[in-house]
Amino acid sequence: MELTFLGATGTVTGSRYLLTSGREKILVDCGLFQGLKDLRLENRRPFPLPASELAAVVLTHAHLDHSGYLPLLVASGFEGPIFCTPATADLCRILLPDSGHLQEEEAERANKHGYSKHSPALPLYTRADAEVALEQLVTVPVHRPSTVGGIEFTFRRAGHILGSATAALRGDGATIVFSGDLGRAADPVLLPPEPVAEADYLVVESTYGDRLHEAENTQTALADAINRTAHRGGVVVIPSFAVARAQVLLWHLNALRDRGAIPALPVFLDSPMAIEATDIFIRHPEEHRLSPAQCVTLRATATMTSSSDDSKEIDRRRGPMIIISASGMATGGRILFHLERFAPDPRNTILLVGHQAVGTRGADMMNGRDHIRIHGADVPVRAEVVTLHGLSAHADADEILGWLKHFQRPPRQTFVTHGEPGPAAALRDRIEHELGWHATVPAWGERVTLEPGAGPK
Ligand SMILES: [Zn+2]
Repeated sequence: MELTFLGATGTVTGSRYLLTSGREKILVDCGLFQGLKDLRLENRRPFPLPASELAAVVLTHAHLDHSGYLPLLVASGFEGPIFCTPATADLCRILLPDSGHLQEEEAERANKHGYSKHSPALPLYTRADAEVALEQLVTVPVHRPSTVGGIEFTFRRAGHILGSATAALRGDGATIVFSGDLGRAADPVLLPPEPVAEADYLVVESTYGDRLHEAENTQTALADAINRTAHRGGVVVIPSFAVARAQVLLWHLNALRDRGAIPALPVFLDSPMAIEATDIFIRHPEEHRLSPAQCVTLRATATMTSSSDDSKEIDRRRGPMIIISASGMATGGRILFHLERFAPDPRNTILLVGHQAVGTRGADMMNGRDHIRIHGADVPVRAEVVTLHGLSAHADADEILGWLKHFQRPPRQTFVTHGEPGPAAALRDRIEHELGWHATVPAWGERVTLEPGAGPK
């Protein structure tokens, strides 16, 4: 087999890996590039090979930086199955059409306000394109071996978001494991990442390859930020990944209210997608730790605002209150309107709870930028900005190493991807020094021949 890196090199977005076995070509993940403009422009470049030549896509999880290019791949002629776990398929059914919708909205707004350099601005793909792509989803539960052509593959739980999986693929006598995005063993809501015993080759993510999540007590830090803001009469605005983080947040808020650690402020979950994701979460008990009764409590923690009228109504209210809205890196969605409204007021707090990719508004606020651009205008950021790493859906460097230590023999080669250059290099160094494995950080377009390995025990 041959492996070619078509994304997530030097960046945390655009995960795309091509596996070639004889005439069979499979793509593992099919993500959008997000963040800096140069990266986003990558999405506009023609796909590196004719999409019709691909036999299948194996999808590790539903996040757009792993799945968001699928509608364009299908529109470009890909007709094969998209294999994923049942929960991933359910999440894709909301995430991909929404992504198409956001692309259309963005193009429309750019045309209306004339702030695009392209005229007319065209969406990368539409909601309709996404709906077409969904028809090619084929669900495969974790642990059930499946085949495509001569390649066998198995998903195992990755504990990162609902449905997230690692993927082990075997062809031409070689086994390669893709970590996808790894979650955290101690996540209060999701089940932990499952160990993998062996691989001849390994592709591992490195989002937090150079960092440890503070041992801070997440609930204490969350309560402090909320109490400080409530004391000022302000509003807590939380850009949140609609999927998984929103549910974990609700779980924490509920626990804090129960303990009397925060006042009973109104909480709004203002994201149709997060609301749907919460329902999908409840429908997949095989993926998480909550009992049916706890699921009911979770859903009752917040006022769910689906309609855009209800969303606008929130912005007319006065604090204190808590608004959870998507997207998580403030790259689009309703959160932009809440930031426009609440970021300029120093009484308010913007609470960042997940990874913020370079070039996103989230990263700008985290790094102390005093203004962000929204809808073509400058919005001053005078609100307090708080970052909580403890709520991350990604394993930190120690947790990645902990997952790697389950391998019973060193992979012949480990490829460190899905990280900015610093974190990727840091993780590679730790893998080499602490585990004694051969690890590299591949470049975009790099192609590697996967030699037959020792085979499964
Ligand atoms: Zn992810």
